[in-house]
Amino acid sequence: MTTEPRSDTAATGPLRLQYAALSDVGRIRKDNQDSGYAGPWLLAVCDGVGGAARGDLASATAVSQLRKIDQPPEAELLALVAGALHRAHDRISELVDEDPSLNGTSTTATVALFDGSQVGVGHVGDSRAYLFRDGTISQLTKDHTFVQSLIDEGRITEEESRTHPHRNLILRALDGVHDTEPDLFTVEVAVGDRLLLCSDGASGVLDDSRIGDILATGTPDYAAVELVRASLEAGSSDNVTCVVADVVDTAADPDDELVPLLVGSAAELPRRASGVGPTGGGLFRGHRSGDTGELEPVAAELPDDVPFAIASDPIDPEEARYAPRPPRRFVWLKRLLVGVVLLGIVWIGAAAAWSWSQEQYYVSEQDGQVTIFRGLNADLPGVELSRPYEATNVELARLSEFQASKVRDGIDATSLADARRTVENLASLQVDEPDETTEPTEPTDEPTDESTSDG
Ligand code: MN
Repeated sequence: MTTEPRSDTAATGPLRLQYAALSDVGRIRKDNQDSGYAGPWLLAVCDGVGGAARGDLASATAVSQLRKIDQPPEAELLALVAGALHRAHDRISELVDEDPSLNGTSTTATVALFDGSQVGVGHVGDSRAYLFRDGTISQLTKDHTFVQSLIDEGRITEEESRTHPHRNLILRALDGVHDTEPDLFTVEVAVGDRLLLCSDGASGVLDDSRIGDILATGTPDYAAVELVRASLEAGSSDNVTCVVADVVDTAADPDDELVPLLVGSAAELPRRASGVGPTGGGLFRGHRSGDTGELEPVAAELPDDVPFAIASDPIDPEEARYAPRPPRRFVWLKRLLVGVVLLGIVWIGAAAAWSWSQEQYYVSEQDGQVTIFRGLNADLPGVELSRPYEATNVELARLSEFQASKVRDGIDATSLADARRTVENLASLQVDEPDETTEPTEPTDEPTDESTSDG
């Protein structure tokens, strides 16, 4: 990577980029999982996702792949961008293969490759690219987020999306698993244009007009610092990364050095690994290759207005940030349906039990007469489990005490016919006067199809 202005700039276009990049861990998170890059031809912001699964590795890996195309483009811009994004995806896939504990790591990627007259933009996730032109800001990329899909459907407003409980949820990312198709498009640029690439740590708390106000001021360096500062002051609890680039004439500031800038975890990981450089603890520290990286130390204490729940943060929201599928909608409706289905099952079960119970018969007594009962010979307070079905002319008084007591307790039958056989048997055991008939009398209760009635 050259550190001198390229002499061949004019060969590919009359313009060049003047850029700055800054990444800050923010006031709450322990580590910076954002990575950013700015070079003469390439701008990139990657926001690592995955919490414990090391989103910092994913974003740093992506940037280390992407930066390889930071050179005068010799092929179609979007083909180069798409190829670099695919290689980043493949490299993340290799990382996870080598170390399964990294499973779940992923990163957003928003890149702009410059060819001297236009930029080819590649985009996956919710980092953003903006164009500031003639005092007007426009968002070039569209978030691959759940809330953006709700905005598209007209369900919520842009304003509401900023406080939506699922505002952090992204639907696409470079995860080394799903073959994500990035958004790809080109934008013509002109002298005076200013490009901004940033992570959601900035765009999530600063609206377009605020970002536009800041981009309207100062150099790219100044704008980047102010954007990060404003994001933190606006209460961003996330890592914040901003890459700002001005499109300038090649003749402008010919002495301005074009040092590639690497920020965020892409810059910190190698330093941590080698034991050199900051090792965490500082807040609002920025890292740019070629300088000390220290910008403005801020008190290491958490701000007073940080809720304890966030400050202690036992569950890192980043871990649940990327979902290839959106969260379920109409939760209340699904709960209602589940409730109805459960009720249906209970009802069917009760109906079946009732139906079964109505095929049960036993022999007992009513008003001194041996009687066939339909239902269950059991006591359940408050519930009528059986009712007299057929009275007979067999009198309890004419049975032996032993038989009578058996009848009072109830003699189970396997069927109505079985119950009638029991009655015949009892009739034959009657004493005093011979029994003239054991035929059952008319049913006291006309059999009805109880199984369809509501139990
Ligand atoms: Mn973020």
